[in-house]
Amino acid sequence: MCNAEFDIHNSGATPRGAEKDIEKALRPLAFDDFSGQDKITDNLRIFVAAARMRGEALDHTLLHGPPGLGKTTLSNIVANELGVGFKTTSGPVLDKPGDLAGILMSLEPNDVLFIDEIHRLHPIVEEYLYSAMEDYRIDILLDKGPGAKSVQLTINPFTLVGATTRSGLLTAPLRARFGINCHLEYYDHQTLQNIVLRSARLLNVECLPEAANEIALRSRGTPRVANALLRRVRDFAMVKGSGTIDLPIARVALEALNIDKYGLDEIDNKILLTVIDKFDGGPVGLTTIATALGEDPGTLEEVYEPFLIKEGFIKRTPRGREVTALAYSHLGRSRHPEQGELF
Ligand code: ADP
Repeated sequence: MCNAEFDIHNSGATPRGAEKDIEKALRPLAFDDFSGQDKITDNLRIFVAAARMRGEALDHTLLHGPPGLGKTTLSNIVANELGVGFKTTSGPVLDKPGDLAGILMSLEPNDVLFIDEIHRLHPIVEEYLYSAMEDYRIDILLDKGPGAKSVQLTINPFTLVGATTRSGLLTAPLRARFGINCHLEYYDHQTLQNIVLRSARLLNVECLPEAANEIALRSRGTPRVANALLRRVRDFAMVKGSGTIDLPIARVALEALNIDKYGLDEIDNKILLTVIDKFDGGPVGLTTIATALGEDPGTLEEVYEPFLIKEGFIKRTPRGREVTALAYSHLGRSRHPEQGELF
């Protein structure tokens, strides 16, 4: 097995360095290049067109959903399609209101300001954002100490696009200030296959449809994972094959990288094994599973569980979460005799 084992879990998270540059190059820049999430893009196209016709800023927009599904990409597309500037920052980076004030004052009329991980905004910064979002005004503190005065400045109208993997952590006042609210879903295999084929074209590598489908099947419903797998499979095709990504070389590469055939990552498998081994397959409460795993229950519920439910590994029952027969067979475990049939 390869030492540099492919970490499918990390590949869903935000990449760094060279990987980040390639990701940027693969990022769609217009709605027409963005596959999937049809309901969201259909609506956004209309809202963007209407804002353009009125010459106004688009309403503040909240994008939520698991990592790697295209929140940053979509916000970029919105700015492009509006024909306005795009500035980006993230919740944890904004330490104090002054950091935010600087960015807000630099915005041109109707620009898009993207705040990633908006659920991690400092409460003071969040409060500061309210008046900026509502009536494009901010308070600026002149001087320091007890005699300090503040003045109110008007800033240019802008659109805040907030992205979060944990919408449950947003405060009600912040949530209420977004006029447009979009939940991104995991992608189906067909859409991911198209994304892989598009990325292969951009990377100048020939990829056969059946190989793209194999990569799509193992990508955890996530374009970022699909693109990362494509790049690794491309390496195998260059060194061990003819350079073309066909089904045999894709299979060899994915096996060598130890990629789960259902696209599950390390944490997904840990969740299933915990429910099977510690709780006899369930039903068991989400908080109990989270405690056993040392994970945050909200992250489990909003980031991991939706994919496991969608793919049929976990069921929600009135008494808690239960793993399915598919989970047992996938992990090579057998069900306790009194729980029913053996696998
Ligand atoms: P998020 O912000 O939700 O974590 P990103 O927008 O950074 O996700 O998307 C990760 C990568 O996946 C992007 O670089 C882009 O190349 C690709 N991607 C995401 N969504 C799509 C899509 N619908 N079509 C094509 N590529 C996509």
